[in-house]
Amino acid sequence: MSSTVEKVAEKYGYSPDQIQSQKFGTGHINSTYLLSVDGEDKKFILQSINQNVFKDPLIIAQNVRLVGEYLKKNYPEYLFVGSIPALSGEEMPLVDGVYWRMSRFIPNSVAYDTLSDPKQAFEAAEQFGRLSKLLSRFDPSLLRPSIPGFHDLNLRYDQFKEAHANAEEGLKLKASHQIETALSHSFIVDFFNSYKNSPDFPDRAMHHDTKISNMLFDKTTNEGLCVIDLDTLMAGKFISDLGDMMRTYVCAFSENEADMDKIFIRVEYFEAIINGYLKEMGSILTNTEKDLILFSGKYLIYMQALRFLTDYLNGNVYYPISYPEQNLVRTVNQFKLLSEFFSKEKILQSIVDKCLHS
Ligand code: ATP
Ligand code: MG
Ligand code: MG
Repeated sequence: MSSTVEKVAEKYGYSPDQIQSQKFGTGHINSTYLLSVDGEDKKFILQSINQNVFKDPLIIAQNVRLVGEYLKKNYPEYLFVGSIPALSGEEMPLVDGVYWRMSRFIPNSVAYDTLSDPKQAFEAAEQFGRLSKLLSRFDPSLLRPSIPGFHDLNLRYDQFKEAHANAEEGLKLKASHQIETALSHSFIVDFFNSYKNSPDFPDRAMHHDTKISNMLFDKTTNEGLCVIDLDTLMAGKFISDLGDMMRTYVCAFSENEADMDKIFIRVEYFEAIINGYLKEMGSILTNTEKDLILFSGKYLIYMQALRFLTDYLNGNVYYPISYPEQNLVRTVNQFKLLSEFFSKEKILQSIVDKCLHS
């Protein structure tokens, strides 16, 4: 009997005796395979979509197709890693009850899980910025949300309040300090709401998952090649992409680090992000958006802290954990990073100002 991957390959015209497949990459959401075809100098990426996270994968297929068509028409040189349709014409054939997609494997590319040089932050910010720039005239309302409310801070705050109201007393006691911190920073929600509907703070087509492993680098030159992982390409604010780069690039350690002395901002990475991003988006952002550059980091870090805390209070139903208090540790970690943004506010803002005017 053929394996599921073989059945999927057949949908694209490749028989089981023509192909080899192996698990590939370090993605956490989907299952990713590298597919090699005998006698062809081509490789493909095959991915099954995680339907616990993406309730309707065909929304992703449609969004990526619309954006791919737009970019091909307007910027034919741009390297966009869209889906390759199956023989049936479907972008995401259903095989054994699961949706799959194929994309071309980008040769001589490498993805990293952590950054080891500010240049990588610059390259990534430039690439994510370029995608937003090329889509700045694309109508974002054409895109449907693949995860409704994904970066909606009001929703995340309400979910935290609800979890707090319903949590077991023991959990509330253990998390009391973090709950207090979450409540005392609700001014971040109010601040966002005071801008949310401003015409100078428009919805744009955003990537929404700008961690470094979603960027491909050229193995030889180490230059940024292209962005990948377009599952959350949908309408949002520019702060989603820029803020998530700040959240995930400026600190040398991830949200899983329990030693809080290691959680601090590497200013040179911050500067590299701003320079790379503004190289592309500097001519696109409105003055209001430019005023919100530093806020983008605070917004994303606070939202992520709320999400970890909410999950802890709900009994760890969303984020996988390897020990019981892990979501609380992640919360403490993100609040530490947030406090770094506040305590270094002056220097960070002066870097933003310098980059804006250089
Ligand atoms: P995440 O945990 O970020 O949501 P994911 O499960 O959605 O990840 P992807 O990021 O799409 O999966 O892919 C996982 C990894 O596979 C990438 O980090 C990269 O190493 C590799 N990869 C994906 N697409 C390609 C491609 N077209 N060419 C080369 N490598 C790729
Ligand atoms: Mg990824
Ligand atoms: Mg992904």
